Amino acid sequence: MSLVMSLAKRLYELQQVDLEIQKKQEILDEISRQLGESEALVNTRAELLAQEKHLAEIEKQQRDVEWEIEDLRSTIAKVNEKLYGGKVKNPKELLSFDQEAGMFKTKLRQREDSLLDLMAQVEATQDRVESDSERLRKLEGEWQREQEALAQKQAEIEGELASLTQERQALTSEISSEALELYEGTRSKKGHAVVKVEQGRCQGCRLTLPMSEWQRARAGSLVRCSSCGRILYLG
Ligand SMILES: [Zn+2]
Repeated sequence: MSLVMSLAKRLYELQQVDLEIQKKQEILDEISRQLGESEALVNTRAELLAQEKHLAEIEKQQRDVEWEIEDLRSTIAKVNEKLYGGKVKNPKELLSFDQEAGMFKTKLRQREDSLLDLMAQVEATQDRVESDSERLRKLEGEWQREQEALAQKQAEIEGELASLTQERQALTSEISSEALELYEGTRSKKGHAVVKVEQGRCQGCRLTLPMSEWQRARAGSLVRCSSCGRILYLG
């Protein structure tokens, strides 16, 4: 096997390494896209925050109504004291206290209804907050595990990429700069720079090689396909 013949082989090997590097790079890109906050996590956290805020609001409303009820009850007790205490004897005054008591009692019933309504809302919202928290915890756990696996995979691929880069350096150090330029130039235009020749055909464009080209390649020259321009490797 001549020196130039082994050059085509080296270029072919370089291409194998470059393809492998490209594949690893794509995996790394995909991993970086997946690293970081997930949309589901962000949404669930925002939803939980909104529910907690709502809960705090209705709990405050509940306390306000409870205080109002307490006030109304003590007011009613005072009016009742006047009504039934025996100190007030004037029928007109008593009638007015009776009306007053009736008014406060109506208001009390309304507030008690509101309180029941608020208590039901608070309970439902507490349930919701609890289930959202549970969902968030689960998502965070899954996310954590996923991120760890991704980081591990990333480190693994980076290691593989480092040895491929070393392998590439070793290969290119044995290839002339002219041949490397030809390889890089063809690669940037065609994707695959080096193609095998099988049954007399260029595997890049499927054209049957002229006998003269095939013979030159066979003899060890670095030959490019006259049709697609790729570097031919007889294998
Ligand atoms: Zn070709």
